[in-house]
Amino acid sequence: MKPAPFEYAAPDNLEEVVSLLEENEGDAKVLSGGQSLMPLLNMRLARPEVLVDLARVPGLDYVREDDGLLVIGAMTRQRTVELSPIVGEGHPLVLEATRNVAHPQNRNQGTFGGSLAHADPSAEYPALAVALGAKLKAVGPDGEREIDADEFFVTYLTTDLEAAEVLTEVRIPKLPAGAAWSFTELARRHGDYALAGVASYFSRGDDGKVADARIVLFGVGATPVRATKAEQELIGQTPGAAVFESVRKAVLDDVEEPQTDVHASAEQRRSLAAVLTQRGLVDAARRAGISL
Ligand SMILES: Cc1cc2nc3c(=O)[nH]c(=O)nc-3n(C[C@H](O)[C@H](O)[C@H](O)COP(=O)(O)OP(=O)(O)OC[C@H]3O[C@@H](n4cnc5c(N)ncnc54)[C@H](O)[C@@H]3O)c2cc1C
Repeated sequence: MKPAPFEYAAPDNLEEVVSLLEENEGDAKVLSGGQSLMPLLNMRLARPEVLVDLARVPGLDYVREDDGLLVIGAMTRQRTVELSPIVGEGHPLVLEATRNVAHPQNRNQGTFGGSLAHADPSAEYPALAVALGAKLKAVGPDGEREIDADEFFVTYLTTDLEAAEVLTEVRIPKLPAGAAWSFTELARRHGDYALAGVASYFSRGDDGKVADARIVLFGVGATPVRATKAEQELIGQTPGAAVFESVRKAVLDDVEEPQTDVHASAEQRRSLAAVLTQRGLVDAARRAGISL
C-alpha cells in the first residue's frame, strides 16, 4: 500500500519544528529515521496531515560524556551508537542493547530518539532507558523539560510527550562501578522484535551481598516492566543459583499482563521473561568474575 497524502516539511531549526507541530495540533508527526513511521504510513495505520522531518535540524546527532553521564542526541543513528568508542569503552549495557535492535540496515537509519519516542514495548531502548534511569529531554512551545524514563513510557506506542514536543536528547547514567550486567532476549530471528527480553544489573557491597539491582523486562506489557519483586529477592543476598531461582519465581509475579499474539501466548511470554532473567543473572555474575 501507499501512504495517504500528506504535506512534507523539512525545517532547519528546532523552533520551526515546534511551531509546525503546534500549528497542526496532533495532525503532524515528526520523522526521524522512518524505520517505524514509514511502515505505519504505508499500511495507513498512521495518517498524519504533515510530516515534519528532523533531518535538516542541526545539533541533534552526537554521542558524548558529560559529568559522568552518557549523552546521546535524539537524531543519532543507532549504528553510530553501536560504533561509538565512548559507548564501546564505558557503557556495555547500551552497546549490548543496541546490537539487539533490529538489523544493521535498520540501525543505519533508525535513531536513538526515534526508538524511544516510538515506545514499542518490545523494543530494546525503552527497557534500557528505564534500567539505567535515563532522563529524556524534550523541547516544546513552553521550552525545555526533562522526563524520567520511568515516567516517559505511558502505554503501547504512547509516551509522555505532548503533541508539539520533540525529544532532543537522552542522558544516561553509567552502571555502578563493578556492576554485573546482562542484556538478553529471545527473538524468532536475531534482529526481529523480541518475544521477551530483560535488561538487568546488580552491584555488590564490601560484604559481597547485592546492594543494588535493576531488572527491567520488555515484550511482556504495554511498557517496559520494572520487576520490583524480583529486584527485592536479589537485594541483600549473596549471588548464587538458589537466589537466582527465587528471582525467577518472583518475575512470574512481576509480569501482570503479557500480550498474546500469533508469536507467543501470554503464559509463554511470562515464563520466558522469568527464565531469561535467571539466565541473564548467571551471565552477569560470570562476566563480573563472581563464582557461583
Ligand atoms: C525489519 C525491522 C525490524 C525492526 N526490529 C526492531 C527491533 O528488534 N527492536 C527495535 O527496538 N526496533 C526495531 N525496529 C524499529 C527500528 O528500530 C526503528 O528505528 C525505531 O523504532 C524508530 O526509530 P526511527 O528513528 O526510525 O523513528 P521513526 O520511524 O522516524 O519514528 C517513530 C515514531 O517516533 C516519533 N518520533 C521520532 N523521532 C522523534 C523525536 N525526536 N521526537 C518526538 N517524536 C519522535 C515519530 O513521529 C513516530 O511516531 C525494526 C524495524 C524494522 C523495519
